[in-house]
Amino acid sequence: MTNDFLSPDIIKDRLRTEFIGREIRYFDETGSTNDIAKELARKGALEGLLVLAETQTSGRGRLGRVWQSPPGGIWLSLILRPRLAPQEAPKLTFIGAIAVATAIRNLGLDAKIKWPNDVLVSNRKICGILTEMESETDVLHYVVVGIGINANFNKDKLPAEIQKTATTLKSELKESVNRNEFITCLLNEFERSYLVFLEKGFSPILEEWKELSCILNEDVRVYMDNRIIDGKAIDVDQASGALILKLDNGSFEKIFSGDVSIRRQK
Ligand code: ADP
Repeated sequence: MTNDFLSPDIIKDRLRTEFIGREIRYFDETGSTNDIAKELARKGALEGLLVLAETQTSGRGRLGRVWQSPPGGIWLSLILRPRLAPQEAPKLTFIGAIAVATAIRNLGLDAKIKWPNDVLVSNRKICGILTEMESETDVLHYVVVGIGINANFNKDKLPAEIQKTATTLKSELKESVNRNEFITCLLNEFERSYLVFLEKGFSPILEEWKELSCILNEDVRVYMDNRIIDGKAIDVDQASGALILKLDNGSFEKIFSGDVSIRRQK
């Protein structure tokens, strides 16, 4: 992996963005890029600041679940300061997922998005996105969008139980990718979608997202905190980003958080 190094200078040189990734804080190793980004945001860091690490020792998923972050991956967090109501912040996860899926598709892989926040290749998780925010009643102070991509390591670097459901760019392509180029493409795409969102609202984003979704029109099972629901994933709610299910009994239900899996016909 001699040529595989992360370089903030190369990334900044090649970016075509106005503000996303214009300032980069790089770490060989950190606990969690989201934690660093939140600390910087609290101290007043500007919109677009990127925190990037070669490895994370305590990467997190939703609900405090562990996110494995070995060396060779792409572990980054972006600080955003949109003028939105706090309940709109989850929509930024959709922008992150579109940007990641597009960057992966540029490598020739058929990346798909699984609601709410995973990007899959060959039906296996290659990326997770964790959006966190700080707000007060109706004022959003900042949002941190954390993106973790299994890039230049083979999936045998992940714990055995995760290998069954995960994949990596290297495992799929049988070679390493140029991470600096990949990140540049991801950030360009992120800013493009983010600006569309701020100027035109969520509707065009949702349209793009739907094109990339692998669960719409599928029979799914949703695991929630205290129950499991079966139904067909028919749409995503424009106002909230919730998944709309048509249940097997004909009624409709909006899902705000949960883990979705596709029910395959036997
Ligand atoms: P996120 O929302 O960030 O994807 P999740 O809670 O959905 O967070 O994902 C965390 C879960 O993903 C873990 O419980 C584990 O099963 C799995 N996981 C952890 N690390 C990885 C990884 N590097 N690649 C794929 N799956 C992972």
